[in-house]
Amino acid sequence: MSTINQRIEQELIGVAKELLASKKVEALIGYKRGTMPMTMTPFVARSSEEAEKLCWNSFCVLNLANYLPQVLRSFEPPRRPNDPPPKGPLPKVGIVVTGCWSRNIVVQIQENQVERDRIVIIGISSRGMIDKKKVHERVGGKEVTNVEEEDNRLIVKGPGFSKEINRWDVIRDNCKSCIHPDPSIYDILIGDLKGDRQISNRFSQVEEIESKDIDERWQWFMDEISSCIRCYACRNACPLCYCPTCFVDDSRPQWVGKSKEQVDTALFHILRAYHCAGRCTDCGSCESACPMGIKMRILTKKLQKDVFELYGFEPGLNLDEPLPLSTYRLEDPQDFILTDIKMGDKK
Ligand code: SF4
Ligand code: SF4
Ligand code: SF4
Repeated sequence: MSTINQRIEQELIGVAKELLASKKVEALIGYKRGTMPMTMTPFVARSSEEAEKLCWNSFCVLNLANYLPQVLRSFEPPRRPNDPPPKGPLPKVGIVVTGCWSRNIVVQIQENQVERDRIVIIGISSRGMIDKKKVHERVGGKEVTNVEEEDNRLIVKGPGFSKEINRWDVIRDNCKSCIHPDPSIYDILIGDLKGDRQISNRFSQVEEIESKDIDERWQWFMDEISSCIRCYACRNACPLCYCPTCFVDDSRPQWVGKSKEQVDTALFHILRAYHCAGRCTDCGSCESACPMGIKMRILTKKLQKDVFELYGFEPGLNLDEPLPLSTYRLEDPQDFILTDIKMGDKK
């Protein structure tokens, strides 16, 4: 008897082979098995033979939308970052998405990073992805050589041990608080849609930090980032970080120091989080990519909560709903601007 993910995988391979063989797409972004247990590697299949390598399981943690602009551009004539896009029909690219990845693609379309007409979106309703750090914790940090995934449990094996783990116990924090597991946009659906999930408080992780006083909150932040090695894996894994030159790499002007000094590291995290405000879909790719186990996603989740409370907006749910922080309307109340301050009042 096959598992849910095995059935999805088989259907996905069939769909991908047909799309590639019929040239409806020139390439298809999915996953293949990595060389280590619990590791899946983003993979671009360019032929129906290569589509045989595609796989699907609960370790597909890196957001595939991150690769979409680059793969699309690989089929365009070379151009500089600010040149206009080429004219005329261009090859299409297929991509596999779950709920949050599809919402990132919606944001990418809204921000003119990708063209809807050139993407064939294969949607899968997400069952939540597994945090392999949680699996390692459950086996006391022992070496894991093999993991078998069933629908509701994992069988984790290593030298001299075999342990059964409830799947939900090791699901990533962002997946546990996700209320939109279905793709918000797709051309082909694999499996069934599940509908929104009912969660009593999806912002509880953020509220736990908000309940601390200002000194405790600052201490929490400084403790959390203290082991950051400034590798930028979190930035590189994010499908919203596509600036030709990131502020951390600029040298004229140098917005932020490149050292591991706390002030530089803090500035990097605060600025990166603000750049994602109103755009982040809480996909968790940044946190999954971090080699130091830093929970920087709570910062973007806090901004997600603020944007939801201020504007009633969630990014990527609706292609026709503009991003609030990149929209200006004349009738905006703008009541946060203190218009009655006189020059002499300024301190
Ligand atoms: S900031 Fe993190 S959680 Fe948000 S979209 Fe980027 S990778 Fe995903
Ligand atoms: S952190 Fe900001 S500047 Fe850097 S790539 Fe991301 S959005 Fe662009
Ligand atoms: S991935 Fe982790 S260690 Fe690397 S820069 Fe981001 S928070 Fe720091």
